[in-house]
Amino acid sequence: MPISDRYRDWDREEHPPACNCADCVERRMKEIRKVSWAWWLLPIFLMWIGGLIAWGCTKKKIGERAKDYIWLGIAIFIIVGTIIWMALFGI
Ligand SMILES: [Zn+2]
Repeated sequence: MPISDRYRDWDREEHPPACNCADCVERRMKEIRKVSWAWWLLPIFLMWIGGLIAWGCTKKKIGERAKDYIWLGIAIFIIVGTIIWMALFGI
C-alpha cells in the first residue's frame, strides 16, 4: 500500500461520522452511489410498500437519503390513487 493511501486511511479514522470535510463528503457520496439504482424500482412498482422495503434495506448504508424511497413510493401512490379515483368517478 502506498504511503499516501495508508495516510488517508489513518486520517479517516480521526474524522467523526458526520464530518463535512471534502474527503468525507466524497466518501459518503460514493457509498450512496454504490447503493443500487434498482432499489428505485421497488417504490415504483410497489408504491409506499416498496418504499418502506427499500428504506429498511438501505438506511444503514445511506442514512437519511433512504427516506427518498419512501417519498417516491408515497408520491406514486397518490398519483396512481388520483388517476384510479378519476377513472372510477369520472371527476
Ligand atoms: Zn472529514
